[in-house]
Amino acid sequence: MSIRRKLFSLLVLLMLAWPVPVAAQSGGPGQPPVHIVQWGETMFSIARRYGITVDALTHANGIPDPRRIYVGQRLLIPGPSVLADAWTVHVVRPGESLKAIARQYGLAWWTVALANRLLNPQLLSAGQVLRLPVGEGRAPHGALHTVRPGETLMAIAFHYGASLWDLVGANGLANPAVVLPGQYLLIPGERPSWIPAPFESLDLGPLPVRQGQALRVAVRTEEPVYLEGTLFDRPLRFAEEGGVYYALVGVHAFTEPGLYELTLVATGDGGEQAAVSVGVVVEEGGYGYERIDVPPGRTNLLDPVLVAAERERLEAVRNLFTPLRRWHGPFLRPVEAAISSYFGTRRSYNGGPYNSYHAGVDFDAGMGAPVRAPADGAVVLAEPLTVRGNAVVLDHGWGVLTGYWHLSSIEVAVGQEVQTGGIIGRVGSTGLSTGAHLHWEVWVGGVSVSGLQWLSASYPWSDLEATGTP
Ligand SMILES: [Zn+2]
Repeated sequence: MSIRRKLFSLLVLLMLAWPVPVAAQSGGPGQPPVHIVQWGETMFSIARRYGITVDALTHANGIPDPRRIYVGQRLLIPGPSVLADAWTVHVVRPGESLKAIARQYGLAWWTVALANRLLNPQLLSAGQVLRLPVGEGRAPHGALHTVRPGETLMAIAFHYGASLWDLVGANGLANPAVVLPGQYLLIPGERPSWIPAPFESLDLGPLPVRQGQALRVAVRTEEPVYLEGTLFDRPLRFAEEGGVYYALVGVHAFTEPGLYELTLVATGDGGEQAAVSVGVVVEEGGYGYERIDVPPGRTNLLDPVLVAAERERLEAVRNLFTPLRRWHGPFLRPVEAAISSYFGTRRSYNGGPYNSYHAGVDFDAGMGAPVRAPADGAVVLAEPLTVRGNAVVLDHGWGVLTGYWHLSSIEVAVGQEVQTGGIIGRVGSTGLSTGAHLHWEVWVGGVSVSGLQWLSASYPWSDLEATGTP
């Protein structure tokens, strides 16, 4: 029996995606969005963030030297492919759909999606600002093509059966001999195919993601599929909830900032396959440096053999994946105390090299203070360890686990179910610790991430609760 396999591949470099970062604003009616240059940004990083070329950004702003920009400078962000004589701005009202808005302005819904770089056209929020092409010669219909290295305009025109001059005209190219890798081109007359069937939508957040954060991938499909995916050369593990496939990916604190490719492959009942790739931008976490001095007599705890043995013990639970999500909304703070050391800080022990980092958040809590479960979960580890002292690990589902080190006492047992706010142990200073504190870790997909993202102030996935299942 032969199985017909269709493999579509499409590179959608949607680096900005939605929500729009704080620095981006609407430039007002009739104007494209404006980006206000932040400290540390370059033309390259800004262009990358919006999925456009440095050339396009330089040209749109009439900048003579792209190396010379200043903090606070306002840059017009040119649209990636939707060309228009003029733009208008529409503020989304509660309950409005993309299709209804597009109809109101006589536009195709995907033109609006493209012009606003919406990753998930089904999710609009009230108050969101959309820019819409208006006026003569507006919104040419067509497919989006991303120029690959070495490609010429002639080759692209040939590939789509379009004329060279159609492409020049549709994209307002000044010089047809110059197209740059990564540049977007509108192919007039082609059916937009930026997400192949059976994929319906792809929603990633937060974007851009920072070192040490967790990224949520939500995939909707027209029909149930077997879904596989990879990011950072690691397989994604999906859980299905309410007809949506979710995967959480931990971004390692040492992941090089840059552009990474997320690939998804859906396999249907008949074995037919479709693939989609999306660019994911990882940004610098902005973590600091600190030197830790271990008291004499405790330095033996840094013995590499001991450290490795203990790491191996934790590996046994680190990659657990329970398909049932047990947390709902932001996590509770595990102890009522101030933070004394943040996640991600590069560390040197006794003056050695800064080749390790702080994999958790330290709370400056007093000896014996109660440590509480931040969310519902199951105890998967509860035992004394040499370096980490008395340790507890909770499994909250979907590959999300939390760890509690240096406890003076453990008050739960492996296999026990805990409820949000339930006491699991007491703050202490056991193991490699210089004083009473709680070291709290959050693991996502086997990778240590910052616990702060999971606390209410910066919890990024409240929409999961809004649109989720009962
Ligand atoms: Zn710590």
